Amino acid sequence: MKHLDVIVVGGGHAGAEAAHASARMGAQTGLVTMRRADLGVMSCNPAIGGLGKGHLVREIDALDGVMSRAADRAGIQFRLLNRRKGPAVQGPRAQADRKLYREAMTELTAAQPNLAVIEAEVTDLRLEAGRVAGVILADGSEITAKAVILTAGTFLNGVMHIGDQRAAGGRVGDAPSVRLAQRLRDLEPRIGRLKTGTPPRLDGRTIDWSILEMQPGDEDPVMFSFLNRRPFVRQIACGITHTNESTHEVIRANLQRSAMYGGHIEGVGPRYCPSIEDKVVRFADKSAHQVFLEPEGLDDHTVYPNGISTSLPFEVQEAYVRSIRGLEQVKILQAGYAIEYDFVDPRALSNRLELRDLPGLFLAGQINGTTGYEEAAAQGLVAGFNAASNSLGRAPVTFSRTESYIGVMIDDLVTRGVSEPYRMFTSRAEFRLALRADNADQRLTPLGLAAGCVGEERRGAFEEKMARLGAGRALLESLVLTPKQANERGLRVNQDGTKRSAFELLAFPEIDFAAVSAAFPELAEMPEDVSEQLSREALYANYIERQKLDVEAMRRDEHWEIPEGFDYEALPGLSKELRGKFGRAQPRTLAQAGRVDGATPAALALILAHLRQRK
Ligand code: FAD
Repeated sequence: MKHLDVIVVGGGHAGAEAAHASARMGAQTGLVTMRRADLGVMSCNPAIGGLGKGHLVREIDALDGVMSRAADRAGIQFRLLNRRKGPAVQGPRAQADRKLYREAMTELTAAQPNLAVIEAEVTDLRLEAGRVAGVILADGSEITAKAVILTAGTFLNGVMHIGDQRAAGGRVGDAPSVRLAQRLRDLEPRIGRLKTGTPPRLDGRTIDWSILEMQPGDEDPVMFSFLNRRPFVRQIACGITHTNESTHEVIRANLQRSAMYGGHIEGVGPRYCPSIEDKVVRFADKSAHQVFLEPEGLDDHTVYPNGISTSLPFEVQEAYVRSIRGLEQVKILQAGYAIEYDFVDPRALSNRLELRDLPGLFLAGQINGTTGYEEAAAQGLVAGFNAASNSLGRAPVTFSRTESYIGVMIDDLVTRGVSEPYRMFTSRAEFRLALRADNADQRLTPLGLAAGCVGEERRGAFEEKMARLGAGRALLESLVLTPKQANERGLRVNQDGTKRSAFELLAFPEIDFAAVSAAFPELAEMPEDVSEQLSREALYANYIERQKLDVEAMRRDEHWEIPEGFDYEALPGLSKELRGKFGRAQPRTLAQAGRVDGATPAALALILAHLRQRK
């Protein structure tokens, strides 16, 4: 029998990141997945990043993860979304060549020490003394480990739907995971069903590109990884087209034939990523919806029509797609479909993503009720670090809402659970002015270095960058002007008698670095990357200073840990309703208790008083 420190089940986005994270921590790690060739497969859209999601990818990179590096190597169109808005809500996004992404992930995995890929299906878990202690494979062989991470994605009891046809599957072309799903249902009762959908794939050679608007990538592409500067491969443009009244008419006339509308699916789908059927029904007053035509690779004719996912029968898909401008003669290479699958209520997990009632078993990715590659990978990272720490007897690695989107997501999941597939948005982060994509390394690389999961290349690059930023900031802070002097040098500020440093002058939205540099010849030599980063920091410095008290209050509350099994029934003064809610949610900290639906300041004061007494 083989023995490892950590076993990761599933080689999707959560699994790959979890396995790498665990191996980087020094744990002997096995990644067991149904097909070795499927490492890095994108089940749905060929793109990484976006608003909120791009922040997650940058944070993964700051902790030396792999998604960012694979996405840079496979990126065929980079765009910084919300470029014209403030840096806090800008999200890096790249369209990826599917094949290059898979290849990059496979190469990175082969090069990672302490990590072995095992091609097999896991059908059962090995239990020992109330703990998970390994896995059992379909051929009956066993692998033992101190910790197991399940990242089975959409595969647990997966059922695919096209119209009224249904077939068991984890995604098109792949068998579902049924035996493991049954075992999990026996061990953890809090299991539900969710669904998601994907559009038909088109043959790009049958699209009339000549009549379509084309959208190129950015002229100055922004990479995901702090270690990369420019794209690795040729860049392409995408096409833009729209649905129209005829498209909507075809869909309306066939609504009852859609798996989602015909009552064939019980799972709940994502509201913010609606199918075309949903769009036509929910936004009935809209006469057109935008469709991005995204090539799936540099040497692949397949095109992904972003915005028209569906579970209508094939002939209806063909009819509505062909009613769209530029697609009149289009050939469908693969029908769109919906999929429903089992997920575990994430409130059953700790903030290390370990099941509270089944120590040794960690869950990450779509299995926890999220959707999206980036959300999956970020959870994989957390589970990977903690499974490794657990196995090696080291301290847990946890993330706070105050310092990362990863922390926001984990806290949302384990405190509030999900009522529909969970996706990251910038609006979920209360401290988003501080949690920017541009400063993910400054926020998290030190944490990664302390945890021992950051390699030498990144350590060197990070330390050098911090030294350059430190020197730049010191220079900006040393150059000071009175308001009168500022005005004389063309910088318009209030004549309030306050002296301001060059750094403080950059906090005025209308004063940019070029203007400050014109006022101070000493700044002429400052490298562009340093001046750009310090300008972003200066812009938000005042807001972040004002938020400091809120951040400190939340950190204080996070330090008040609530012991496992805390008895809310024994708290006099707490309403029956709240006793029930706290009892079910089992918040781990006072901060989490504050986010339980209906929690009042008075209830928190009661809990705090009780915690103080126990100290
Ligand atoms: P997956 O990428 O699904 O990977 C799971 C892995 O586990 C696979 O490699 C599988 O082989 C392996 N595995 C499963 N069971 C076992 C077992 N018992 N033993 C060994 N290996 C096992 N996301 C969006 O953001 N937007 C969308 O519109 C969207 N639409 C989607 C439509 C469809 C049809 C599908 C299938 C997915 C869609 N997704 C969408 C979701 C996206 O694909 C997932 O969020 C993401 O892939 C989740 O990553 P994961 O690592 O959790 O799981």
